Amino acid sequence: MIHQTTCCYCGVGCGIVVRQEPNGRLTVEGDKEHPSNRGMLCSKGMNLHYTVMDQSDRLLYPQMRLNRSMPLQRVSWDTALERTAAVFRTLIQKYGPDSVAFYVSGQCLTEEYYLVNKLIKGFIGSNNIDTNSRLCMSSAVVGYKLSLGEDSVPVCYDDIEEADVFYVQGANPAWCHPIIWRRIEAHKAANPHVKIICVDPRRTDTARSSDLHLPIRPGTDIVLNNAIGRLLIEKGYIDDEFIVDHTDGFTAYREQVMQRTIDEAADICGINADDMHVAADWIGRSKGFLSLWTMGLNQSVVGVNKNLSLINLHLITGRIGKPGNGPFSLTGQPNAMGGREVGGLANVLPAHRDVTNAAHRAEVEAFWNSPVKIADKPGLTATEMFDALADDRLKAIWIINTNPLVSLPDLNAAENALKKARYVVVQDVSSRADTVAFADVVLPAAAWLEKEGTMTNAERRITYLPKVLNAPGEALPDAEIIWRFAQKMGFADAFSYNTAAEVYLEYTQITAGTNVDVTGVSYELLKAKRSVQWPYPAGGRGQGAGSGETGTKRLFTDQTFYTTNQRAQLHAVPDGNNSEPTDENFPLVLTTGRIRDQWHTMTKTGRVAKLNQHAPQPFLQIHPKDASDRGIQDGQLVEVKGRRGEVRVKAQITEDVRPGLCFLPMHWGKFLNSNLGRANNLTNALIDPRSKEPDFKFSAVEVTPYRKP
Ligand code: SF4
Repeated sequence: MIHQTTCCYCGVGCGIVVRQEPNGRLTVEGDKEHPSNRGMLCSKGMNLHYTVMDQSDRLLYPQMRLNRSMPLQRVSWDTALERTAAVFRTLIQKYGPDSVAFYVSGQCLTEEYYLVNKLIKGFIGSNNIDTNSRLCMSSAVVGYKLSLGEDSVPVCYDDIEEADVFYVQGANPAWCHPIIWRRIEAHKAANPHVKIICVDPRRTDTARSSDLHLPIRPGTDIVLNNAIGRLLIEKGYIDDEFIVDHTDGFTAYREQVMQRTIDEAADICGINADDMHVAADWIGRSKGFLSLWTMGLNQSVVGVNKNLSLINLHLITGRIGKPGNGPFSLTGQPNAMGGREVGGLANVLPAHRDVTNAAHRAEVEAFWNSPVKIADKPGLTATEMFDALADDRLKAIWIINTNPLVSLPDLNAAENALKKARYVVVQDVSSRADTVAFADVVLPAAAWLEKEGTMTNAERRITYLPKVLNAPGEALPDAEIIWRFAQKMGFADAFSYNTAAEVYLEYTQITAGTNVDVTGVSYELLKAKRSVQWPYPAGGRGQGAGSGETGTKRLFTDQTFYTTNQRAQLHAVPDGNNSEPTDENFPLVLTTGRIRDQWHTMTKTGRVAKLNQHAPQPFLQIHPKDASDRGIQDGQLVEVKGRRGEVRVKAQITEDVRPGLCFLPMHWGKFLNSNLGRANNLTNALIDPRSKEPDFKFSAVEVTPYRKP
């Protein structure tokens, strides 16, 4: 049997062909017909089938325990869901709807996201649902909304082959979005005039393959982008007509970027001023200017401003809505985009509606026939949920397909918060999730290939994932777990689904007339066409130039934006950074990130022997000067201490990090490493005030050789 599906790791969303042999063995290969990856797969995708063939760590049955000192015991689905419904009802009655919360994941399918959102916002009456996408994409979401009017990625992957300058800032696609990077490399190989500019304090594989590497000091991205903006203005590279006809805010923007000379900016960034001129000249003379970014901009206490400073460069040059041009935030998770579409964040409702907008709430309440009013204030976001558990404002949390005890910042505090929680439900595929140890109820979920549904990748491309295998034991699709629970809560009529297709159909109807209109999409259509890009309204065609039967390739091709006056908004953003200060005790800046062959908290990739060979253990990259100042040898065990915790890992001395900066991969947790390499013991709890995204890229630490006590 042959099945076409989609990779469930990163937001590139590569098409995969799965072959099922008569003996049940699976093989995978890249889907040559899929427009995103054209047959290519990276190391993670090529080994994806091993994660479902090895069932050794699967959660197989619902389990509960009487109290945290007792072991988990197998129970029936009815017992687990009825008991949980009784606890939720009691807490809601006693403390109100905001006493419970759901913390979900960019790995959830669109249908699952939609159902949890519907349950808590439309039936429980709280906006306490947030997702681990808060940790990676929320600064981009706010940046898009403020500048373009809505959370809308304007470009598509085919813009790669139309661009001649790539500005890659705070991203390492060579490792983290490898298939996009291969498309860029192939395009450059065929077109030697193409230029790649990489902005990163680390010399990553992306930086090594770039024409210009700008190794800025951590936290100085806005200084750099404003300086490039100034140069674009001074050198006459801006598009005056576009600025006048389609934007607001240019005067204030110009005043802001003129406040620093280029030499001052270069000094703050720690790079050569000549390189800023080169970058501005390449961008200014290009026909296609595509910028790509991820966590280096988003995971910052000034993440929204960083996003705005980059989007500004497209708006002053008019490089948006045209082939090969536009800002392109790469998503880290396979369905972070789908979760945003259905409103799976504490501040939004389905189809990019807003919880603070009374008309939007009324539309959604009417559509759902809600028995309660949708709350008019945003709910708790990811880190806020754990703060609220710690001080007992939040009593119960239901965690679905994410591993916050590895991925949240300041993990010692997060772990204490989960210990204090009155009721913890963990719904997951794997017993390797570090949260299982803290759960009162564990619910076994079906994995990739074991359930059907849809996902949206980073270019707004929706694909259908078929069910290929039966889930082991009593594991159930996440959507079914939620609709069964909602029925136990007393909402049987509104959650009387039998299939994921019914859920998807309902979701498409709530998008009617919005900018995320997918009323023309159905499982049948996706099976026939393989994938389409939203918007895709009823009638079956996308909008704008280059669009057609497979949806909308590019947004804003007519230069009208989703703001109320249809004009894009330039923002004069100050270039300060409010990250945790370094001092004599903690003089180094720690940045965290991914490595090539692991994904997130390793609950999947960590089980594949081949992938573990790349980097079997966590390590700390430190510059030779910083190592020498501290008497550290390459490969030596070092202690990394911060204001909140410590880790013990081997040092890797390298000039790939700037002096004053060190790098630690974020993948390892207690389950795998007994706390020794848990990077987020060290990260701080600061968040961007608007996006609520944590500042993972800038924490103050000191590193010393480890000496046994
Ligand atoms: Fe999967 Fe991303 Fe690799 Fe594609 S690039 S195969 S989506 S991990």
